[in-house]
Amino acid sequence: MTKMYVLGEKRIPRAWYNIVADLPEPPAPPLHPGTKQPAGPEDLAAFFPPGLIMQEASGERFIEIPEEVREVYKLWRPTPLIRASALEKALDTPARIFYKHEGVSPAGSHKPNTAVAQAYYNKEAGVKRLATETGAGQWGSALAFACNHFGLECTVYMVKVSYHQKPYRRTMMELWGAEVFASPTERTEAGKAILAKDPDSPGSLGMAISEACEDAIGHEGTNYSLGSVLNHVLLHQTIIGEEALEQFALADAYPDVVIGCVGGGSSFAGIAFPFLREKMAGKSKTRFVAVEPTACPSLTKGAFAYDFGDVAMFTPLLKMYTLGHDFVPAGIHAGGLRYHGMAPLISHAYNLGLIEAVAVPQTKCFEAAQQFVTTEGIVPAPESAHAIRVAIDEALKAKEEGVEKTILFNLTGHGLLDLSAYDAYLSGKLEDYEHPEEKIREAMGKLPQLV
Ligand SMILES: *Cc1c(COP(=O)(O)O)cnc(C)c1O
Repeated sequence: MTKMYVLGEKRIPRAWYNIVADLPEPPAPPLHPGTKQPAGPEDLAAFFPPGLIMQEASGERFIEIPEEVREVYKLWRPTPLIRASALEKALDTPARIFYKHEGVSPAGSHKPNTAVAQAYYNKEAGVKRLATETGAGQWGSALAFACNHFGLECTVYMVKVSYHQKPYRRTMMELWGAEVFASPTERTEAGKAILAKDPDSPGSLGMAISEACEDAIGHEGTNYSLGSVLNHVLLHQTIIGEEALEQFALADAYPDVVIGCVGGGSSFAGIAFPFLREKMAGKSKTRFVAVEPTACPSLTKGAFAYDFGDVAMFTPLLKMYTLGHDFVPAGIHAGGLRYHGMAPLISHAYNLGLIEAVAVPQTKCFEAAQQFVTTEGIVPAPESAHAIRVAIDEALKAKEEGVEKTILFNLTGHGLLDLSAYDAYLSGKLEDYEHPEEKIREAMGKLPQLV
């Protein structure tokens, strides 16, 4: 078997996959934050263009990818599906390990898959500027790249602690023409209120989302853009799994287990949902494992309840596994995995027992990442290292049990702008965090009450 299967650009899938069409029960609808009634398209119109609102509520199985979006995808798609033979050898495992390398995109992660689509639909609707939040800067840089391509302005509220820790991501965003502010800022009422209470606030994704939403609501011609969690974002990411299905067919193989890290859940949905469709149709017995950090264990320890997506309670209420909307995570290095909630579609699938979840501490992930670097050569994003950890564990289990199996994991990004995290790991400065049970109980008391 050859090591790498690269498909030509003609093989980029023509449609995204909407899992809503195939789920045994429909997911719970989003609710209006004031009335607590199901939110209609008009409630989302202050944030998103019609094309995305339609996708958010769609029940159609396949949604055609606009040609303008496929053209941009051709810059880096299809992404390679790579067999990790050197890692297999080092582990001395009978398992076959494959990874889908989303780190080859211009911004270095899977996030441009949706950023390009979102910029396109906003441009089509006559929007001039997009406002957004970013944690470690992966989403901000993806959106800056996409806005630059379609001639939109881009304003990014970057979580303050990351703004200072990850200056190079800011430089990338600025190179693509975006303006970047350390959140909380004095530019918004939400930011001012947070700073009045705590002038040294390190910021959080929930706070930055409030600022970006307020910016969008308050300015004509400006929309808001979210990099994970929502149905339309998960939809755009299914290009990953659709490509992988085709690539496995060419390789005459099929995964027994699909593994991905989860922050808001979009890349995991992207790789898993097309394979889950095949399983729900009775064509496979594949397992699906979502991997989260022990510092932010929304699936494994959170409550499945309606909650806000942000601190200032601007967003519609989403039914999801949540640690509470005012959750401020420990400073782990996987910045992309520090969101308090989980995508409603992932939450629903987990609640139905269609997918599994596990939480792992960061030092174990960095150990796995180093084993990956020394075998496969690629420096993974700390987020992706969570998936590598569990892929290695699955391969070791296969060895113990003496069974053959095929493992697929999502390499969601490269870690070349996360080297300070690797430096901390190498010098023994990384610590593990367990999100305290007491904090979870406290947060549960603050969930919005529905009558
Ligand atoms: C943002 C990010 C994630 C987590 O986001 P999801 O929506 O859960 O996919 C994972 N890996 C990388 C490299 C990221 O940038």
